[in-house]
Amino acid sequence: MSQAIPKTISVLGATGSVGLSTLDLVRRNRGKFKAVALTANSNVQALAKLAMEFDAELAVIGNPDKFLELKEALSGTAIRVAAGEGGLIEAAQADAEIVMATIVGAAGLRPTLAAIKRGATIALANKECLVCAGELMIEEAQRSNATILPVDSEHNAIFQVFDFNADRSVEKIILTASGGPFWDKRADCLKNVTPEQAVKHPNWNMGRKISVDSATMMNKGLEVIEAYHLFPVTHEQIDVLVHPQSVIHSMVQYIDGSVLAQLGSPDMRTPIAYAMSWPGRLEAPVERLSLADIGQLTFAKPDFETFPCLQQAMDALRNGGSAPIVLNAANEVAVEAFLAERIGFMDISSVVNSALTKLDMKAPQSLSMVFEMDEQARALSQAIVKDMSA
Ligand code: NDP
Repeated sequence: MSQAIPKTISVLGATGSVGLSTLDLVRRNRGKFKAVALTANSNVQALAKLAMEFDAELAVIGNPDKFLELKEALSGTAIRVAAGEGGLIEAAQADAEIVMATIVGAAGLRPTLAAIKRGATIALANKECLVCAGELMIEEAQRSNATILPVDSEHNAIFQVFDFNADRSVEKIILTASGGPFWDKRADCLKNVTPEQAVKHPNWNMGRKISVDSATMMNKGLEVIEAYHLFPVTHEQIDVLVHPQSVIHSMVQYIDGSVLAQLGSPDMRTPIAYAMSWPGRLEAPVERLSLADIGQLTFAKPDFETFPCLQQAMDALRNGGSAPIVLNAANEVAVEAFLAERIGFMDISSVVNSALTKLDMKAPQSLSMVFEMDEQARALSQAIVKDMSA
């Protein structure tokens, strides 16, 4: 695809944490980027405001009940309005060079696939898509010549230091993990953790779902699966290292013993800027890293006993079939229930475990099987949550 100036970009999930950071970079680089389509799920007023500020062509609200409200908020402008999953797919299909895929959860899968199918460049933050349908997405990207650029800071770091021309010289990739707000706590201290405590990440300012995932370390587990799909490595070649300062965003170890790392302040605008401007670089207004001020970087092995979600995700990758789909769906349901104070923090891994042991793990051969399995796992997990909170 030829590179126009300004580069056109659509943001699926524009009102979220990654979406707003992306639009912050667009705002600071108006001559270089132009927003085409922006989407949200229910946050009509924020979406309408952004669509007007960025003079978008299309604004889409995922929740169809909010269509009229969005239409009214954008009346008198030339911005087209749509709603529902069809609208999200339309936004992904709009003629933009880059699609920032940052809807949270498996809800982002169909729109992201629509962008892949038309051969766009996908800046991919929505890791749950890859967890559910990694093989199918990568195959589709190869077929349609789409480019998938990782936005997740760890995968973006690996992307920056991985020698794709000599992938056999890679011994392993090392995903760093902040460990979340409770990394040095033991399981008995975590039983009564509240949602407000769990979403308070020490280094990153993120949406509520990923913040809880970070606290349970499911986030790192999902990232192990994401890394497996994005890079030419086996699951045995992916290690996790706890690094509470989040300065080293990840590393690649080579057969000669060299370890290459990407470092930076924990600000998503660095990996987002890299994905938006790749293969070039874009100036990002992030705090510059001062290792002298930080003084010490520390590291630890992950504590699989206190954070069973990490092991569950690694096992789901190794077991294959539909285990990652079930893991992801059960986790989405459990995190929502935890945030709604229906179950406790440590119950999240119990819900995931029950769902994984109760469902048949046949490998999905098609996308419709992925959605079918996702639906089944959600229904089962809702029932597990209901029993638990009764
Ligand atoms: P947020 O919750 O902050 O934002 C999510 C966005 O998706 C919002 O625009 C939201 O709209 C929209 N959305 C939510 N549910 C749906 C749905 N069912 N259908 C359509 N749109 C929906 O999430 P984050 O920005 O934190 O994370 C987004 C993705 O990026 C996740 O997959 C996360 O794992 C990944 N990621 C995030 C990082 C971060 O720093 N935040 C870092 C690395 C990866 P509305 O505002 O209307 O609810």
